[in-house]
Amino acid sequence: MNTSLETIVLAEAVHARASDIHIDPLIDGYSVRMRIDGNLVLWKNVNRPTGDKLINQIKADAGIETGTVFHPVGERRRLNVDGEEIDLRITLAPCISGPKMAIRILDPRQVKHDLPSLGLTKIQTDQFQHWLSDLNGMILVTGPTASGKTTTLYALLHELAEDSRHVVTVEDPVEYQIDGINQIEVDERHDLDFAEGVSTSLRLDPDCLMVGEIREGTVASQAVAASIQGHVVMATMHSRDAASAITRLNNFGVTNHQIATALGVVVNQRLIRRLCQKCQSTRPPTDLENSFLSIHNREDLKEVPFSTGCDSCQGSGFKGRTGLFQVWNLDRTDYEMILAGADEDAIRSRRLQAGSPELVDHALSLIEQGVTSLREVMHLGLSLPWENK
Ligand SMILES: [Zn+2]
Repeated sequence: MNTSLETIVLAEAVHARASDIHIDPLIDGYSVRMRIDGNLVLWKNVNRPTGDKLINQIKADAGIETGTVFHPVGERRRLNVDGEEIDLRITLAPCISGPKMAIRILDPRQVKHDLPSLGLTKIQTDQFQHWLSDLNGMILVTGPTASGKTTTLYALLHELAEDSRHVVTVEDPVEYQIDGINQIEVDERHDLDFAEGVSTSLRLDPDCLMVGEIREGTVASQAVAASIQGHVVMATMHSRDAASAITRLNNFGVTNHQIATALGVVVNQRLIRRLCQKCQSTRPPTDLENSFLSIHNREDLKEVPFSTGCDSCQGSGFKGRTGLFQVWNLDRTDYEMILAGADEDAIRSRRLQAGSPELVDHALSLIEQGVTSLREVMHLGLSLPWENK
C-alpha cells in the first residue's frame, strides 16, 4: 500500500472535508494547512527536505515539471479516495523563501446540488421557485469569493436539467460534473477565456446558459445580450449586496436600459459556519454583541447560542456551513428606478422601506434558531460601513 506523505495529506484533507491544502515555505521548512469550513487550520509543520519531497511528489503525479519553480504553474489531477474520483487543482508559485503550493480539492460529495440543502428560508425558496416557474430574466448570484455562489447555480441547473433543456455552462474551473449538461472549462493558456467560452456556448444553441463568473465588461455585455435574446441566463458576479450589483453592471458598461430589460433576480449570499450541535449552549450577549443587536433592532435577544468545542467538532465548536441569502426579485418600481438612473443607495433604501429582508436579517434568524453564533455573524461584516456609525 502506498503510504507516502502525499497520500496521507490528501486522504486526511478529503476526510476532514477540506476545500484547500496550503503548503507554505517557512525559513527552515514548510507549514501544511487545510481550509475547513472556510477557516485555515494548521495540519503540521514539516522540515525542508520532507516538504520538498512532498511538493515534488505532488508535482510529479500532476505532470508538473520537477525542478526549481520560476513561474506560477497550474495543473489538474484526478485522485481516487474511498472509490470516489476527486479532482485537484494545483497552483504553484515561486515565493522568496521557496515554492508555495495551493491545492483546491473539488470533491463532488461536498457539492450539494439541490435547493433545500442551500439553507434558503421558506420565502426565499418560493422566490427561487417563482423564477424557475417562468424563467423570466437573468438570475445573478452575487457575493465575495467562496460564498457558495456556484453551488447555488448548480442547484438551479439541476432543477433546469430535469426539464430536458439544452444547458451549457462556462466555468473556471468546472467544480462538479453534471450528466447531460455541456460544461466548458475556461483555459486561458489556450485562449479560451470566459468571453470566448460564452461566444462558443451561444453558437451551440442553448436554452439555458450559465456563466461561471462575470468579471469583465465583455462577458457582462454578452450575458445581458443573451438574456435579452431570450436565453435563460444564470451568472455569478462579485458585489457587496444585491443593490450594488446594478452599479457593478454599470461599471462594466451595461446600460440601465439593458439592465432593466434583462435582469430578473439578484441573489446575494455568504457562507456561515454552523455551530456544533453536540457542545452547544446559550449565554447572554456581550456589550459588543449587544451594540450589534441594537443596530439591527434585536435587543430582544437576551440569550445567544455559542459552543465550547468537543471531539465531534475537533474542538472548533463548528461543523459544516450553511448559506445566508438575500433574494431580490425585481418589481415594477425597481425597474422604473433603474430606468430613471436611480443610484444603488436609492434602490436599496426603497427596498428597505418596503420591508425587503437583507442578509443580516437571515443571519439574525439563524442565531435565533441556534444554527450559528452571533460572533460568527459579526465576523462576516454584513453591515454597510455607515450602519456602524
Ligand atoms: Zn462540538
